[in-house]
Amino acid sequence: MVVLVSLPPHASASVIGVTGSDLGRSGLRLSVRKRGQGKSAAIPKKPPSGESLPMQHSSIHWFRKGLRLHDNPALLAAVRGCRCLHPLFILDPSDTRPGANARRFLLDSLRDLDGNLRTMGSRLTFEVDTEPSARRRDAAVAELAARHGVEVVQEVSHTLYDTQRVLALNDGKAPLTYKHLQKLLVSLGAPEKPAPALTQEHLQSCCTPCQLSHDTNYDVPTLEELGQDPNEVGPHLYPGGETAALARLDALMEKTTWVCSFKKPETEPTSLSPSTTVLSPHLKFGCLSVRTFWWRLDEVYQGREHSQPPVSLHGQLLWREFFYTAGAAIPNFDRMVGNPICLQVNWDHNPQHLHAWREGRTGFPFIDAIMAQLRAEGWIHHLARHAVACFLTRGDLWISWEEGLKVFEELLLDADWSLNAGNWLWLSGSAFFHRYFHVYSPVAFGKKTDPDGAYIRKYLPVLKDFPAEFIYEPWRAPRAAQERAGCLVGTHYPQPIVEHRAARDRNLGRMKAARAQRGTKREPPADASVDKSQRKKPKAEQH
Ligand code: FAD
Repeated sequence: MVVLVSLPPHASASVIGVTGSDLGRSGLRLSVRKRGQGKSAAIPKKPPSGESLPMQHSSIHWFRKGLRLHDNPALLAAVRGCRCLHPLFILDPSDTRPGANARRFLLDSLRDLDGNLRTMGSRLTFEVDTEPSARRRDAAVAELAARHGVEVVQEVSHTLYDTQRVLALNDGKAPLTYKHLQKLLVSLGAPEKPAPALTQEHLQSCCTPCQLSHDTNYDVPTLEELGQDPNEVGPHLYPGGETAALARLDALMEKTTWVCSFKKPETEPTSLSPSTTVLSPHLKFGCLSVRTFWWRLDEVYQGREHSQPPVSLHGQLLWREFFYTAGAAIPNFDRMVGNPICLQVNWDHNPQHLHAWREGRTGFPFIDAIMAQLRAEGWIHHLARHAVACFLTRGDLWISWEEGLKVFEELLLDADWSLNAGNWLWLSGSAFFHRYFHVYSPVAFGKKTDPDGAYIRKYLPVLKDFPAEFIYEPWRAPRAAQERAGCLVGTHYPQPIVEHRAARDRNLGRMKAARAQRGTKREPPADASVDKSQRKKPKAEQH
């Protein structure tokens, strides 16, 4: 049994502040998994395989992401030669960004982890983290630990590669294109294989102390205890936790033809059940190891023809790697000001339009249905994210991508600092993506894969009886048709908040001006300014 360590909210200032000196005195080892960058003091080398450290230390394994027993090398390092293991999770109640659905996913994951640890006579520890940035936190923790003679072990397992090594190959700079990243990775070879999963055997000679009052004081909290209204959660479509993650992965890997022929641009944003894996929340929280996912795909690919990056499933994991690497090296990656790769744009301040977008009340059913799905289910397809992100920013509303990022942070189960910022930079035409004149039409884009509007009918039931002819543009329907559908535009469903073509044309001009100010070369020809979805054969978006 292991002690479930938790600080009450008022003691949240710093876990080390509470335990540091005790750790030092008793020779404890603090085992944390390394994130992105910020390699700090006292990173000992692993003992040669098979050799164990003397059995005189205790370990704290600090779970943050990586909420799993499989491929968790830092956790293995914690139990190696350890006398006493204290698994710890620090919950930060002051972080009000995640909404109810995301909180529920986290609690699912913690409960699952706790359950899995308990089957080994061990338990998850749980606590409060108030630090704003993981890197600063880790550097401070490592420094404090070093001062108290506590050894810190950091292991890479949240990314396929050690981002610091990738950056070092590129003179410390982030590769700014996918191809460039691929080139760098060639010299590193295939990603490391996953570490063996933690088993009871690892814990045989290791005590996991637990006080009697443990459950009362330190059990995984409920949504209410986190200040969330349980009535706010949507359908429980994607339960959190390593068990659910591995089951989902297993089921997907059975579908060998689907896996081998997976081409991201051919998957559909309007599909009524997900057309991609929905492993993103599990990857974000680390309930699933990205290396495990990579090598399971590799097994399926063996001896079969299969799609290739950037559109394949391996390719999707490389996109993840791409944005993690960028986020690790580019200052102020999640904001415009002070971000050296970000186009400086004079975005509009329009709280009404932002509110309408956020609440799915723009009057464009495709956009509103996507936002309704996001709010209810916490996950939307990648191209649906494209559509709403483009609409909010350079396409229609000319509102800063940082506002969109915040809404996604609250509503997505998979909200991930690097991936969210990187993709918003991309979609808003602020970085990475330069064909800003490719604008998604909020009308034509959804129609391509769902001409009858089944997706809209599902997520916007107010429009469910609208004729297909008008489902994407209900404001064009004659009054009689609106009456027959039981939905009057302007009364039961909003009028469009902008005129798309006019907004798009105005924004293209503003985008061009912003880029000219930066001195961007190779401006596109003037006639390139057409809706991407209206082009005869739109070039598949590779990203
Ligand atoms: P799959 O297609 O099955 O891909 C497998 C995995 O590859 C994903 O789970 C994800 O980890 C990774 N991946 C796929 N596409 C991308 C991508 N474009 N960039 C980086 N990694 C990718 N993804 C997040 O996980 N968290 C976010 O906060 C996030 N914010 C986004 C914001 C915007 C504006 C956009 C356009 C995209 C965002 N994405 C984000 C990327 C992408 O949409 C999701 O990763 C993907 O839709 C998740 O669904 P899936 O697991 O079924 O993906």
